[in-house]
Amino acid sequence: MDTKILSGKVVSESVYKNIKSRIDILAAKSINPGLAVILVGDDGPSQVYVQNKTKTFTNLGLYSETIKLKKETSQKKLLEILQKLNDDNKYHGILVQLPLPSHIDNETIIKSINPKKDVDGFHPLNLGALAAGKPTFTPCTPKGIMRVLEYYNLDLSNKHVVVVGRSNIVGRPISILTSLKREYSNATTTICHSGTNNISYYTKQADVVILALGYPQFLKGKDIKLGAIVIDVGINRVKNTETNTYKLLGDCEESSIKGKASSLTPVPGGIGPMTIAMLVENTIEAAEMEL
Ligand code: NDP
Repeated sequence: MDTKILSGKVVSESVYKNIKSRIDILAAKSINPGLAVILVGDDGPSQVYVQNKTKTFTNLGLYSETIKLKKETSQKKLLEILQKLNDDNKYHGILVQLPLPSHIDNETIIKSINPKKDVDGFHPLNLGALAAGKPTFTPCTPKGIMRVLEYYNLDLSNKHVVVVGRSNIVGRPISILTSLKREYSNATTTICHSGTNNISYYTKQADVVILALGYPQFLKGKDIKLGAIVIDVGINRVKNTETNTYKLLGDCEESSIKGKASSLTPVPGGIGPMTIAMLVENTIEAAEMEL
């Protein structure tokens, strides 16, 4: 079977094209959407993610600022900085890059972001609204997955979706989104995690498998049924010991999935670019609250 590649690059370009008119409307009212990103410590991948995010904002003529803090920064200091950003009208969106150093409590930090500026959609109020199917800032990666499915006209209604992973960032919210009673969703969703015995028992029954576990090449061709759609969210930096270089691998084994799946999001170039595009879109939405 020919496996169609679902390109997040292509879909994100269409998002940026469509967003231009919204930016123009805001500009006409002298509103320039602004994002503040807080980066604590010197985690390599986090630095790359933040750079990619802010570069995209700059390319679109939007304002963004990265506040880099030492990894020893206290939780109290971080809370003070967040309070200032909450009160500063320049910033419509605030993002705290995760993971945070272990002496800082993620939940306390996320809860202290003004929910109206929580463009990552991780605040409990926004996650609760999402679960209730109410308008909210939807976490960027799950929102990006849904946008890819819509773009390629892959309707989930009456389909069985199996999500592997239950984090608040990807697995949990995408399991909610796919099962909501709304266009392109309305699926029967099963969520698997480290407490699930024999995950392939579930994935073999799935019309759509969404992988968000962070385990390189976890899902093989033998674990899916012919014609399944595979959405691979995983980004795993894996070292080639012979060449001493790193490469990015997803959570599925592309070589055996290709030819068996009907569609697949690649790594890189699949869900990654969508996460950034949805961050831009959420920041525009936050700025539009001023209109
Ligand atoms: P987390 O580590 O927060 O969550 C991983 C989830 O997968 C947990 O629920 C965990 O179970 C489950 N899990 C881990 N290993 C196994 C296993 N062997 N079998 C079954 N379940 C397992 O990760 P994230 O959700 O933040 O990210 C997941 C992946 O997606 C990562 O590779 C990350 O880099 C990538 N990612 C990509 C993004 C993108 O833009 N493309 C954005 C965000 C993340 P349990 O709950 O029991 O611990």
